[in-house]
Amino acid sequence: MSQAREEVLQACSEESCCNGSFTEHLPDHFGENVFSLKVMKEVLSPKAYVSIEKTIIEGGKLDASIADEVAEAMKKWALSKGATHYTHWFQPLTGVTAEKHDSFIDWDNKGGIVLNFTGKNLIQGEPDASSFPSGGLRSTFEARGYTGWDPSSPAFIKEGPEATTLCIPTFYIGYHGEALDKKTPLLRSMSALSKQICRLANFFGIDTKGKRAYCTLGPEQEYFLIDKAHFQARLDLVETGRTLFGSKPAKHQQQEDHYFGAIKPRIMGFMEDLDRTLWGLGIPSKTRHNEVAPAQYEMAPIYEELNMGVDHNMIVMEVMRQIADKRGLACLLHEKPFAGINGSGKHNNWSVVGPDGKNWLYPGKTPHENAKFLTLLCAIIKAVDSYADLLRVGVASAGNDHRLGANEAPPAIVSIFLGDQLTDIIEQIEKGGGPKSSKEGGTIHVGVDSLPTLAKDTTDRNRTSPFAFTGAKFEFRAVGSGQNPSAANMILNTIVAEAVSDICDQLEADKKAGKDFNASLQKILQEIIKKHKRVIYNGDNYAPQWQIEAKKRGLPNLKTTPEALEAIKAKKNIQVLVKHGVLSEVEIASRFEINAHAYTTVQVLEGDCAATIARTMLIPASIEYQKQLADTIKSVGSVGKTTGQKKLLKEVSALIELSLSNVDALEAALAKHDAAKIVSGMAKLRVSIDELEGLVPANLWPLPSYAEMLLMNT
Ligand SMILES: [Mg+2]
Repeated sequence: MSQAREEVLQACSEESCCNGSFTEHLPDHFGENVFSLKVMKEVLSPKAYVSIEKTIIEGGKLDASIADEVAEAMKKWALSKGATHYTHWFQPLTGVTAEKHDSFIDWDNKGGIVLNFTGKNLIQGEPDASSFPSGGLRSTFEARGYTGWDPSSPAFIKEGPEATTLCIPTFYIGYHGEALDKKTPLLRSMSALSKQICRLANFFGIDTKGKRAYCTLGPEQEYFLIDKAHFQARLDLVETGRTLFGSKPAKHQQQEDHYFGAIKPRIMGFMEDLDRTLWGLGIPSKTRHNEVAPAQYEMAPIYEELNMGVDHNMIVMEVMRQIADKRGLACLLHEKPFAGINGSGKHNNWSVVGPDGKNWLYPGKTPHENAKFLTLLCAIIKAVDSYADLLRVGVASAGNDHRLGANEAPPAIVSIFLGDQLTDIIEQIEKGGGPKSSKEGGTIHVGVDSLPTLAKDTTDRNRTSPFAFTGAKFEFRAVGSGQNPSAANMILNTIVAEAVSDICDQLEADKKAGKDFNASLQKILQEIIKKHKRVIYNGDNYAPQWQIEAKKRGLPNLKTTPEALEAIKAKKNIQVLVKHGVLSEVEIASRFEINAHAYTTVQVLEGDCAATIARTMLIPASIEYQKQLADTIKSVGSVGKTTGQKKLLKEVSALIELSLSNVDALEAALAKHDAAKIVSGMAKLRVSIDELEGLVPANLWPLPSYAEMLLMNT
């Protein structure tokens, strides 16, 4: 491998790796590839602009009569950017985005062409949808599927090295309106939550007429970067996105010197290129740094409205892969590309903006704001405790099992971290009664008029909690690095909508009965805390004691995807999704099918790949070494001492035999499509092969080592 590595470094030094200084005016550059409201204001008639602005900001229905004008303006803008094609850009249930390009050309009936793009082209598309997963929702022969324009996420220009394309974010549904994608239920869950938050807002005297509530999202994206030559020499990375073999190198993350370390020039070149591209796409990339594991990094954007935040995250992942490729690197977005060191996640920073335009998870400085905050906080506690299993479903995948189900953060037990001050307040609400002193020495009484002022940073950080309050938002840390964050947020929105709905039902009933609002709210929150406080845990979530404690508390611990997926069949989980119009029963069933199938597919693929690599690369290399050892021992004969070599030969021979029988067992599991046995078979095979890697000479071992991949990316 050393030669390949030298070649790639040589090639890289010859490439122009540097971005040069950024000479453009950043505010002008930001969003230059986006058909934003700012652009629309310049190119649309006032009537069309007002109409589309209303649709985007207030979330209303699209006025079809302006579609032609918007389409024409969008086409002209795209052509000015060099686009020749447009595509409806959508998120089918494959986990990645999809696009089918159409050029703008049409016959002009005079022997030439015109460039056409109509309102109909903009609003609706019909991709040939027969090969997308539908989970039994449709038969292949009647596979009509429609993409529909989502004006709340702006169209953008994708600039590739070979082509420039206008991308129009769309949702994707079947002939009968059934959701076939990730965006449709996300949008439905957003309106469900908006409806309930507005209901609650009325109790606080907030004007909700013509207003809506919405969520915000800032997904922190972790990733690995390795040399492209190393990536291409690893069939496991190419086929599965993670290494199926490889022993931990002497140096990994034990010195804790990579986290926030100085960024090396080659990586900085990548990050700078990434930021500039993302800014051009209107994606507010804010933070870049080295992560804990060697070769691991993170990018974090400023929060945006949820739907856009999800779309942008999907673009971020694509742009990361492209830029890495351009720079002789490979970007790994798998949740666990390397065993023995940290995997990657996507911290899902989620919050709720009410119809008053304010962040309701900001504790606030006035009692009025505190009441909204504490009510929403209690609703979230109730939601997460009641539907922890469903939240786990939203982050279930074969890749993420390596983080959630293994010895790595965050654990599969969904609990909430609140920090000392909020926990203290929660405990006081639970006790109820008159005012008591808080940790800050104020008074506390849950009522609109008498809530205490909370300091801005009400919590310390707890990096081990899967669901942590971090100032003015909740951070759901169980989302996998490679996952589309839609599912997790769709579930979060829905379960919080349900909890808020329950609170509103009670408040309405109490109001009818003539009860005092403050007393009524206090009692409701008190009851919620009494019932659901078991989900609050401020300790170390990685500690083995937590597993025992969580079991005592009755919290679910769904370690694997198959276990987690079963939870979607629970009556309460189906009911909550159906009640809020997020997914119908058949849509839920189809998603279960798709996810279960995807899980088995990944295991079979990985098992197949592992068996191939073991049989055709690693065992033959080990046999070659075995032969060399045997030949040497034979040729040395009685002349020299060979005791140590014989011992080594014995060890290598035993491991080869063990590996061969482990491959046999894995192949037997593969023949039966038995996912659980494939997982355990791969793990077993890996142990014997990784031991061989520690014995076979490096020049015979056909795969780049962990040390080469992780420590030699610059
Ligand atoms: Mg991080």
